[in-house]
Amino acid sequence: MNLDKAKQALKRYFGYDQFRPLQAEIIRAIFAGKDALVLMPTGGGKSVCFQIPAVTMPGTCVVVSPLISLMKDQVEGLRANGIQAAFLNSAIDSREQLKVEESFYAGALNLLYVSPEKLVSGNFVSILKRGKINLFAIDEAHCISAWGHDFRPEYTQMGMLKQHFPQVPVIALTATADKLTRKDIVDQLKLEEPGIFIASFDRPNLSLEVRPGQQRLGQIQEFVQKHPKQAGIIYCLSRKTAEDVAAKLAQQGLKAEAYHAGLSPDRRSKIQDNFINDNIHIICATVAFGMGIDKSNVRWVIHYNLPKNLEGYYQEIGRAGRDGAKADTLLFYSFADVSMLRDIIQNGENAAQNEIQLVKLERMQQYAESLACRRRILLAYFSENLSKNCGNCDICRNPPQYIDGTQIAQKALSAVYRVNEQVPMGMLIDVLRGSGRKEIRQLGYDTIKTYGAGRDLSQWDWQQYLMQLVNLGYLEIAYDANSVLRLTAASHEVLFKSRTVQLVKPSSYKERQEEEKAAAKTKPKTLAKQERLRDELFEQLRQ
Ligand code: ADP
Ligand code: MG
Repeated sequence: MNLDKAKQALKRYFGYDQFRPLQAEIIRAIFAGKDALVLMPTGGGKSVCFQIPAVTMPGTCVVVSPLISLMKDQVEGLRANGIQAAFLNSAIDSREQLKVEESFYAGALNLLYVSPEKLVSGNFVSILKRGKINLFAIDEAHCISAWGHDFRPEYTQMGMLKQHFPQVPVIALTATADKLTRKDIVDQLKLEEPGIFIASFDRPNLSLEVRPGQQRLGQIQEFVQKHPKQAGIIYCLSRKTAEDVAAKLAQQGLKAEAYHAGLSPDRRSKIQDNFINDNIHIICATVAFGMGIDKSNVRWVIHYNLPKNLEGYYQEIGRAGRDGAKADTLLFYSFADVSMLRDIIQNGENAAQNEIQLVKLERMQQYAESLACRRRILLAYFSENLSKNCGNCDICRNPPQYIDGTQIAQKALSAVYRVNEQVPMGMLIDVLRGSGRKEIRQLGYDTIKTYGAGRDLSQWDWQQYLMQLVNLGYLEIAYDANSVLRLTAASHEVLFKSRTVQLVKPSSYKERQEEEKAAAKTKPKTLAKQERLRDELFEQLRQ
């Protein structure tokens, strides 16, 4: 199968002349029978990556998607373009299902969309075995990961596809997966040497801002006044907060509504429609809101509470400014939120997963506390390196005092190099400061060149500098390997190409942290309250 044919299909069925970045490469990999993992922002054009193979290769592409409410629209859209498509989910009666099965057996379907529940149910594999499948597409593949952003238990059984259909390539697609989630997707789906395709996640039109979480309501009112009649979303941790905030704003005469999974499906879809049609300007929502909602002119997103990880945060702010026009985002950060989230996570049942969730929360907190360009931090977290500061975040607009940190960076990076990227941050600091710890002597790290080269700085200072280097993309924490520090492509530029590094003096971090701690007054103590919050925190949009 060649790419000309793919291009013709793109024109014929979708009316587009050109592929977007990565689409052609991905399609080529599928044509070559390879598995693929695709990371592309929402609206980036993931569907085409499996729809073009689906219409050009013999057989049917089976698409697994958790967005049941969107399946019908998607399938109708494809049919309107002259593509043979059908879907199976719990909303389909058995007569209808039989009809769909018949056309699948007859080879008359280009695409068959199925819900994950359907796919893993009873005898579905034997149904699939009666047709000819050219590709499995796992959409919203991050749902496979229990420590990701929107876990769906049915997704974890999907490794069976490779067992039953070893010859059929699998493409996994998502707009939100950090390195751990990516690894989890590849492992669980049993992808074989997949091509990994990561599009740029940079959204320069989104401004980024973090503010201390005091008097949030007043700050929100002021913010909203500066964005009159513009569509915006306020994400809250609990249903109650969402309702309270909506009520407060409504009192001010603003068109605001609360949205969460505790509302009836009817009510939810009515609110969605009203928001999409600009009859409601402000949605105060829990994480239940947003997945699959296609509204291009959301002009701002506020996080009333700290999200539990950067994946969720980036996904949520990414709902603003899809039209490419300027949009503003604001995150309220309070230490109280951190400790509440920490409690909620620690009460979780699976210890290993709690551990990972805590690490992710810590990164979220470091983002909020950081004094380096926020966009660089976010993109570095998803393995993308910005070579300069963005100019469109609160830090860039109001920069702290930078110092030339090149020497500090060189010391740190060469120490990481000399310990063969085998030690976590705490031990690296001991090596740099020449602590004489027994373990370090046993490992022979007291004989390397950089041992003790960082004695002039305190433990605290090193910790803050190293974290800045991580945030700037000069170092990486390998969470899947005991959190050891690793070098990145950018570290080589500092070590060997005399790239300069600007860092912020740690004193300002300390002051800032102390301010935050002082501000943390309230924290829900009772278990019942924590449990309710936990349920809501992990609530999912179920149709
Ligand atoms: P995602 O699933 O990544 O969020 P979609 O697959 O829904 O994104 O695509 C988003 C939009 O981009 C759709 O309207 C789609 O038709 C359009 N699109 C996809 N590929 C191209 C292309 N090569 N040229 C122009 N528009 C495209
Ligand atoms: Mg999609």
